[in-house]
Amino acid sequence: MEYRDPNRPARPSPRARQNQRIQQIRQLRTVLLICAIIIAVLAVALTVFAVRSHRMTEADVVQEKAYASLSAAFASEQEERSQEGSSYQAQLDEQSKAHASEKDALEATISDLNRQLSLKQAAATSSPSSGSSGSSGSSSDLSQKTIYLTFDDGPSPRTPEILKILDQYGVKATFFVINGGKYNHYMKDIVNAGHAIALHSYTHSYSTIYASESAYFSDLQKISDVVYEQTGVRTKLIRFPGGSSNTVSRKYSSGIMSRLTKQVESKGYVYFDWNLSSGDADGNRVPAQTLINNCRKVPRSNSVIVLMHDASVKKTTVEALPAIIEYYKKAGCKFAKLTESSPTAHQRVLN
Ligand SMILES: [Zn+2]
Repeated sequence: MEYRDPNRPARPSPRARQNQRIQQIRQLRTVLLICAIIIAVLAVALTVFAVRSHRMTEADVVQEKAYASLSAAFASEQEERSQEGSSYQAQLDEQSKAHASEKDALEATISDLNRQLSLKQAAATSSPSSGSSGSSGSSSDLSQKTIYLTFDDGPSPRTPEILKILDQYGVKATFFVINGGKYNHYMKDIVNAGHAIALHSYTHSYSTIYASESAYFSDLQKISDVVYEQTGVRTKLIRFPGGSSNTVSRKYSSGIMSRLTKQVESKGYVYFDWNLSSGDADGNRVPAQTLINNCRKVPRSNSVIVLMHDASVKKTTVEALPAIIEYYKKAGCKFAKLTESSPTAHQRVLN
């Protein structure tokens, strides 16, 4: 006989156990169904997400391409703009350079006009017997006069043309030279033809040379060295750019011409101005006939220092030169080149 614990639940009957199993199976099925539904929903969601993200990628690529081509176009446009900008800047630079040189020329003209005015005022106030040019005297008789033709600003492409004309008439002249770069070898031709070579400036830049006395003398030494290298001549004859009476220099250093005119003499230089201007500095295409007419306005001094220019832009000076020489020759004038003992035709220093 099997002992039966009274506390132990009674063993279920086989029918109850079967019912229990069926119930368990049902529960399991429900759980499995729910799991399947969840998996299916997840799968659908994943698929939708994948499709959408794929579409977005495609859109992104298209957008990216569009962006790239846009930015390339922008970059090229920017480059074009910057190129345009730099060429415009170059144009501006060139224009401002041209304006600066025009300004220089205008200032020189104003200075020249001031000088002419002061010369006229001086002539009006001084008595005719006092004479303004030293020992050489003065008269209206042209045959008493010595003509000193002077050419500033060479050597230039015009130098051989000028030398040829001077040679044809057997006339000696004086060349106040600057640094003519590739034309510097004409300095030797000037000396070989028997003319005087003299110093004008190396840079001929007013703002450079009239900034200070030391700037002036360093420029003067440079042109002196060039002349010496080219010709073997160490000359002491000089002419200030703008002449000793120029007032342009005041802008760079007040009173500098008063100091320089004394200092150059103490250093053994002889400086020359002029008492007759051909007027070829008034512009680059002054008609030859105007220059010829100007050269006929001979001053009373028996020493006539004529200012002319040797520069590529002074074509009409070369055109006028034969008639100018012929006029003086017919009037019985003598011609000479400048030396250290020649009359200097100093003008009144205005700065
Ligand atoms: Zn000059």
